[in-house]
Amino acid sequence: MSTQEGPYDAIVFDLDGTLFRGRTAIPGAVDAVNEIRKAVRCHFLSNNGERRGERLTERLRGLGFAVEAREVISSADLVLGHLAGQQCSYRVLALTSSDLALALQEQGHRMVQDDTAEVVIVGVDRALTRDRMVQGLRAVLNGAVLIGTNEDPTYPAEDGLRPAAGAYVGFFRGMGFEPAHLCGKPNSWAILHALSLWGIDDASRCLLIGDNLRTDIAGAANIGADSALVLTGVSSAIDVEAAHAPPTAILESVAELNPARLEEIAAASGSPGGAQPAGLRNGGSRGTA
Ligand SMILES: [Mg+2]
Repeated sequence: MSTQEGPYDAIVFDLDGTLFRGRTAIPGAVDAVNEIRKAVRCHFLSNNGERRGERLTERLRGLGFAVEAREVISSADLVLGHLAGQQCSYRVLALTSSDLALALQEQGHRMVQDDTAEVVIVGVDRALTRDRMVQGLRAVLNGAVLIGTNEDPTYPAEDGLRPAAGAYVGFFRGMGFEPAHLCGKPNSWAILHALSLWGIDDASRCLLIGDNLRTDIAGAANIGADSALVLTGVSSAIDVEAAHAPPTAILESVAELNPARLEEIAAASGSPGGAQPAGLRNGGSRGTA
């Protein structure tokens, strides 16, 4: 379907803040993505640790994106992929969504609600209570391995930013415990594992597009891929100045994407100074990048 002659073998899109906010598609994103995928393979990698790829596919399709379930991978899928790689069945305390807990159970793990857990998984847990945090703390003190879905500090919802998995991981960091493994961007394992599931073995031929400098753009740098920051979510153009890993290009929105813009981004990749600040007029830090 693509593209030895194109600048990229694949585009990997972030979801929240890039293709949609809450239940609303970013204006112009549906047409842009549905059009560009006629020329380049498109995949979708979300740090959503609450929902599996199938559920996110339903949401994307409901908004009009022409995507297939196999093209969509979430942090929840990557948690399952990480534990599947261990080839063991564990007692798991899942401080996560019920969707992920159910999937872990279906994978053969035994869900426990106490400090006998061998693995504690922490992500966005809308039912989190102090008692469950006590269980998590004591399980880790007893030697349980701590796994985070990802460390996004916030995510953009329709009504504004909300606490993301990083806030929940932060509870453990505040108690002195660092996760042994994080299953989302910018972790190199997470992105390369997703690419491998899609049959992509050359990350340098990929373009990652996302709204978050700390996850999407830093993650691209970690695996040697190009990146484009969109200004429809968490990070602003002003934030780029302080970023350790600047994006290859900046787009006001994914709606700007077309084959000609792809060629420009690829050309910028080889130019000194990196990002093309197409969106600087929209600057202004939101303080969360
Ligand atoms: Mg995002």
